[in-house]
Amino acid sequence: MGPDEFRRAGHQLVDYIADYQETVRDRPVTPDVRPGYMRRLVPAAPPERPEPWDDVMADIERVIMPGMSHWHSPQFHAYYPVGNSYPALLADMLSDALGCVGIAWASAPACTELEVIMMDWLAQLLQLPEQFMFSSGRGGGGVIQGSACESTLITLLAARSCKVNEFLRANGTVHNEHGDPVVTPDRAALLPKLVAFASDQAHSSVTRASLLSGLRIRTLPSDSNASLRGDTLTKAVEEELRAGNIPFYVLAALGTTASCAYDNLTELGPICERFGLWLHIDAAYAGAACVCPEFRHIIDGIEHATSFNFNPHKFLLTNLDCSALWVRRSRDLTDVFEVNALFLKTPFSEMPSYRHWAIQLSRRFRALKLWFVMRLYGADGLRAHIRRQVKLAKEFEALVRGDDRFEVAAPVTLGLVCFRLKKYGNMINDHLLARINGARRIHMVPAMLPGETYVLRFVVCSRYTESRDVQFAWSEVQKHTDELLSSAEV
Ligand code: PLP
Repeated sequence: MGPDEFRRAGHQLVDYIADYQETVRDRPVTPDVRPGYMRRLVPAAPPERPEPWDDVMADIERVIMPGMSHWHSPQFHAYYPVGNSYPALLADMLSDALGCVGIAWASAPACTELEVIMMDWLAQLLQLPEQFMFSSGRGGGGVIQGSACESTLITLLAARSCKVNEFLRANGTVHNEHGDPVVTPDRAALLPKLVAFASDQAHSSVTRASLLSGLRIRTLPSDSNASLRGDTLTKAVEEELRAGNIPFYVLAALGTTASCAYDNLTELGPICERFGLWLHIDAAYAGAACVCPEFRHIIDGIEHATSFNFNPHKFLLTNLDCSALWVRRSRDLTDVFEVNALFLKTPFSEMPSYRHWAIQLSRRFRALKLWFVMRLYGADGLRAHIRRQVKLAKEFEALVRGDDRFEVAAPVTLGLVCFRLKKYGNMINDHLLARINGARRIHMVPAMLPGETYVLRFVVCSRYTESRDVQFAWSEVQKHTDELLSSAEV
């Protein structure tokens, strides 16, 4: 493909993308295909000779679209939103074109510099404490990770090393299960003693971080509001200490995946400080809402946090992947992950070498999309987006509350409504969801809340969702409920 053909194909594809976005509401929200559907649509071997662009373009509708779930459809109400906007799409195009690799400041200075500034901009928007900002000069700062999962893993590993170093510096000894001091010959002997904590409502990525790191994470029970409370943590930490173990890390979830519940940060924070535990906050979805002053209370207590993570690629109109992680002391990451091959050495230390802040060595120019999104929406536009989504969720909540067959199963704080048929058990609610999704006119996923309570989750996901879509979703729920309750299944 030469430049002229690239221009023609590019214009055609940009038109296609805009048409797709603006008409996505007219497509069935989920596909009607079986596993392996694509095998019969795509040749078994790659083409020997170049094909014309027009054939490739035509295959988007023929091959790809039949197998797409349309995450940006206003009828898509599953999981949590995945961000999407024209500014972010443009930025990703440019990022791909520049194709730089941000391994060090010198490898692409603009890439690192923009990331530093964008992380400070974002921190200001969310009103994060100063110590998380580069501009405070206090050693903190932010980095773009690929996902919240990576942020959890990275901080867990960093906390592990910090605690082991601290422990060895302090006494170089560890106690056995009888409480007797044992001289530790090496760091490895300490690892089995380390224990991290997260609530039973934390995202599954916490379990994966434990599997990947080989570190033990103790699951703590949440209260009836699905919130991890201070006394539960204190009790668990004290138990572990009595057993001769070394507590080192707590993951607090703000906006859990199941029901958008909030661990009690103001209680957990001082406990973490008292016991010297790294406090990581996973606010993957809910964090974005803090751009609105009226939702900033969500992260009250953040001043106690060692690290804080949220995903602009969820609720802040930014395309995958863009997960924002801030740490109070960047050295906690760089001391642990710094490996300097000769070709990577740089004479400058004023700017971060982001490769020491993440698992990836090669890094895309992801700050561009934050730059484009923040500039082209403005803080006002971002706030308006969050407020609109929350208002639509409230509209759905009111519809649920107006039908006495249903109950709202958890407080509606942002864009998620957890609801269920109240007189029936989990199985009937599961049947209802299967009928709704089977019709492929709207799409939702379930969750299990504390007490083994199965709920349907309605989430305002798309930036295209309007009141008429909320009303439509509710009419679908009612239609399938009427049918289900008059059927032999009940
Ligand atoms: N944490 C929470 C609370 C989430 O809701 C999710 C995903 O929905 C994640 C973590 C994982 O996010 P990611 O896909 O960016 O790893």
